Amino acid sequence: MRKLDSKTIIVASHNAGKISEIRDLIGPLGFTAKSAADLGFNEPDETGTTYEENARIKALASAKASGLPALSDDSGLAVDALNGAPGVYTANWAEREDGSRDFQMAMEKVETALTDKGATTPEMRTGRFISVLCLAWPDGHTETFRGEVEGHIVWPPRGGLGFGYDPVFQPLGHDVTFGEMPAEQKHGWKPGEEAALSHRARAFKLFVETGLDI
Ligand code: IMP
Repeated sequence: MRKLDSKTIIVASHNAGKISEIRDLIGPLGFTAKSAADLGFNEPDETGTTYEENARIKALASAKASGLPALSDDSGLAVDALNGAPGVYTANWAEREDGSRDFQMAMEKVETALTDKGATTPEMRTGRFISVLCLAWPDGHTETFRGEVEGHIVWPPRGGLGFGYDPVFQPLGHDVTFGEMPAEQKHGWKPGEEAALSHRARAFKLFVETGLDI
């Protein structure tokens, strides 16, 4: 595996929620990071059919545009009763006709699909959040790191913290949703700590433990 040996990177994202979580994770490691949004880079089309492919597309676009290593995240929510949907199309389920995103609508779509399947008990409403982080270099080399967290879908949504589908996702072993958890509880993790909770923090832990040479 190629290791990252630079302290300056680009966060290859335009999603404010993800940028904030990735900044929280890399901040304590002493990185200087700018996001693709800060730099005015175009958002590439996510034409892949896997998280890994889409994460590579985003990280490579920022690495090539900036000449610096870039870290992207491609993530989604896979619901078992929906055969893994919305999956890599999790962001698309929130898309309105005018191109804006509405996560209340997206959470309602998931709930309607679950109700149509008769999924009423927590055991019938299991799923997981998945995050694939990709580190790309300007020469085209990439490394990917995957994290997952199991849980179930609740209704109605609970909590106004976090972003996206957080208010309907209750991680296994917890009685609150990601939307009800302070940032530190959802995605806080520092090198040396045994456990990370969120999919993104778990992928980040793998990145730090296997992909860093600093
Ligand atoms: P993409 O990775 O840009 O294709 O989009 C991922 C989608 O999954 C977005 O719509 C996010 O809102 C959703 N998502 C990813 N991670 C989280 C999370 O930690 N909490 C809530 N929603 C998430």
